[in-house]
Amino acid sequence: MKSFFDFTRMELAGHLGSIARATRLYHSVYRDRVTAIEHFDLALPSLVSCFESADGARRYLFQLADGEVVEGVLIPEKQRFTFCISSQVGCALACEFCLTGQLGLTRNLSAGEIVSQVLVQRAEIPSGGASRFSVVLMGMGEPLQNYENVLQAIQILADDHGLAVPLHRITLSTAGLMPGLERLSKESLFPNLSISLTGATNTIRDRLMPINRKYPIEDVVGFVRGLPVSRRKRVMFEYVMIKGVTDSAADAGRLSKLLGGLGTKMNLIPLNQSPDLNFERADHADILRFQQILLKAGVTTFIRKTRGDDVSGACGQLKKAGLSA
Ligand code: SF4
Repeated sequence: MKSFFDFTRMELAGHLGSIARATRLYHSVYRDRVTAIEHFDLALPSLVSCFESADGARRYLFQLADGEVVEGVLIPEKQRFTFCISSQVGCALACEFCLTGQLGLTRNLSAGEIVSQVLVQRAEIPSGGASRFSVVLMGMGEPLQNYENVLQAIQILADDHGLAVPLHRITLSTAGLMPGLERLSKESLFPNLSISLTGATNTIRDRLMPINRKYPIEDVVGFVRGLPVSRRKRVMFEYVMIKGVTDSAADAGRLSKLLGGLGTKMNLIPLNQSPDLNFERADHADILRFQQILLKAGVTTFIRKTRGDDVSGACGQLKKAGLSA
């Protein structure tokens, strides 16, 4: 039996022969939280573990029907919750600063497996805040390597008759896969895009993010430059601050030139250290200096507050090893 969560409402209508029935079922399942309907599987991933961080973030391990495990992080914010979810089991891209990259890729998640991670996390928050959440595809995996299923999941999440998550509250995080980016730019559904640069030169980025050897930094930034302004505003660049590797003033200068006049934002992410990584977090003073250089060049630049790093739930820390700890 196919999972209900794999179906867009239009596909469901085709299946049932009635759009009105499909819309009613969407309401029942996504809004009224009905947990059983005839002829469809409504099983959700099981929550096998939850690690609560001192800052309130919760890292979850979701077990899928075939026994594979992926991770998600629920982050309480002032006004709403953010659900960080996975798009693949593991990841093939092997970024050097990322623990998930050490796992390699096991498989893609189906659209239903992506959507159902949101439902499991929604069930974990107080019902008063039920509609106030954002979704970020920043967990395990490179979403653009699982293009069809991720786009299908976004369509399901955004459906007005279901969860109705506005597209500006859905963020797709990518290492900069050009074919996927180009395809996405032609879609009518365009979520927020978070593109990891992490490296101001091709030499450094080749080393830290091997995908750069295929799709170099200029191509990625050039792609963003070619987007219409309304879409460019939805792009955020991410840059991991690694001591002695990505944190120099010269690198900040190079990035300023590269990104000047683009109108996109930049997020500096202090590296989340781990004994399994051969890197150290950049010093706070160097991160501040880096930010100032970009700000002076007119690039709106934030420093991301690290959440959940004491439970390995922060960016780049999602790794299956030691899950049962
Ligand atoms: S940073 Fe993202 S793309 Fe790179 S290895 Fe980790 S999960 Fe994959």
